[in-house]
Amino acid sequence: MNFSFTQEQLMLRDMARKFAENEMRPLLRESEDQRHTPEVLVKKLADLGLLAAHLPKEYGGSALDYLSAAIIWEELSKVSWTMALGTLGHAVLSGTILSMVATSEQKEQYLAPLCRGELMFATATVEPNAGSDPGAIESRAILQGDHWLLNGTKNFVTGGGLADYILVLAQTDRKLGNKGMVLLLVDRKMDGISFEEVRLVGGRTSDIVNLAFSDCQVPADNVIGKVGRGLHGAFHGIDTARVFITAGALGMAQGCINSSIKYVQERTQFGKAIGGFQLVQEVIARMAAEIEPLRWQLYYAADLKDQGKPHGKELSSVKWLASELAVKASAEAIRLHGAYGCTDEYDLEHHYRDAVLSTILGGTSEMHKLMIGRELIGINAMV
Ligand SMILES: Cc1cc2nc3c(=O)[nH]c(=O)nc-3n(C[C@H](O)[C@H](O)[C@H](O)COP(=O)(O)OP(=O)(O)OC[C@H]3O[C@@H](n4cnc5c(N)ncnc54)[C@H](O)[C@@H]3O)c2cc1C
Repeated sequence: MNFSFTQEQLMLRDMARKFAENEMRPLLRESEDQRHTPEVLVKKLADLGLLAAHLPKEYGGSALDYLSAAIIWEELSKVSWTMALGTLGHAVLSGTILSMVATSEQKEQYLAPLCRGELMFATATVEPNAGSDPGAIESRAILQGDHWLLNGTKNFVTGGGLADYILVLAQTDRKLGNKGMVLLLVDRKMDGISFEEVRLVGGRTSDIVNLAFSDCQVPADNVIGKVGRGLHGAFHGIDTARVFITAGALGMAQGCINSSIKYVQERTQFGKAIGGFQLVQEVIARMAAEIEPLRWQLYYAADLKDQGKPHGKELSSVKWLASELAVKASAEAIRLHGAYGCTDEYDLEHHYRDAVLSTILGGTSEMHKLMIGRELIGINAMV
């Protein structure tokens, strides 16, 4: 067992930390106000090899292990999880799916420009009546000669506002259930697509949209993976996204702890630094004690995934607990900063708004508890 980072991981951590401080932070407030991911950030992340961190080298990715990718996202999210999230639908969801199930021609055509940040992608699975239960999707794809006729609605598509292409999960035959689904690559310029901006409490720089498809004619060649295996393909992306989302939740929580330590050392009340009061120290000590085991649990789950070993229970456990910790740590940190913590002078109100989202996307905390229960007990309590 080795508990040390490699030289490369230390270098990546440093690079991501500097990028977050020097490139992301100056754009954060304006981007939040405009509710938009700055394209320049995506390009710079690509140039540094941080955008397509886990994707294959032959298509322009950095081919890093998931543990290293987690280190990067943790650092980016200390400053802004929502800015990192702006690339989740692109590099993590869509990039993973394309790298796992697309043909080599499709990878050349789409994955390579994805890695370079030249074409943007998003993945759309969730619908008004199908969130935690993807088997319930109602979007229909019917093969008509040389094209699929696509109809349906997709909700909360991260990066959908920026995307040139959207990977859409649709049902080809309801009778086949989960085995009747297909992933279609839809060009945003096609007729029959409409976009609606979604205004969430957080995730404001993540360009999240709802989409509607009305008799949209998608070329038959734009199937990604096999017809009938669409849900399976989407799960590749979702499983990988859980590593990144969890790392981001830990980054937010750590950002809150760091800010709190600095603040309680500097802020004086009753004639001394508030960090000298035992009740204040307890809050910091508890947050620090809670985050450390989760960080190692994430690295362990990422390492299992790197080795191609089962990691469901391990990743679900840390996704659930880390996202809940981010919610708790952001609220505690605001309290430690008093009224100043509620202002946008600090990152805390930003993390506070984002943290709750991390408990929902990539599977809600309830779904992760049920997945752990199913694995341990052998009974599926989701249905
Ligand atoms: C910031 C953000 C980004 C997102 N990005 C994307 C994206 O890029 N692409 C995409 O397709 N989707 C995306 N989503 C959607 C996300 O995947 C869904 O929100 C999530 O899967 C939950 O679905 P839902 O919101 O419909 O909630 P529901 O499934 O309706 O759940 C509502 C509540 O019921 C609980 N619940 C549901 N079923 C059970 C059960 N069996 N037992 C116990 N409790 C249950 C849930 O845990 C939750 O508390 C995003 C969401 C957010 C918030």
